[in-house]
Amino acid sequence: MFKALGQCSICKKEYTSRRVGVKPGEIVHICRDCLKKARGNFFSFIRTVILVKLTQGHF
Ligand SMILES: [Zn+2]
Repeated sequence: MFKALGQCSICKKEYTSRRVGVKPGEIVHICRDCLKKARGNFFSFIRTVILVKLTQGHF
C-alpha cells in the first residue's frame, strides 16, 4: 500500500501519512501531535473528528 499524505483532520496544519479508520470506508488523517492528545481518550477523539467533518459538510 502506498502512503498518501493528507491534511490532519483535527488541526488542519500538519500533513501526515498516519491514518485512522473512524468507521468502514471512512479514514481520516491525523498528525502525531493530535494522536498524542487523543491517546487514552479515543472515543472522544472520534467524536471530535465526526463533528469536524460534519462542520465541513463532508457527509
Ligand atoms: Zn493535527
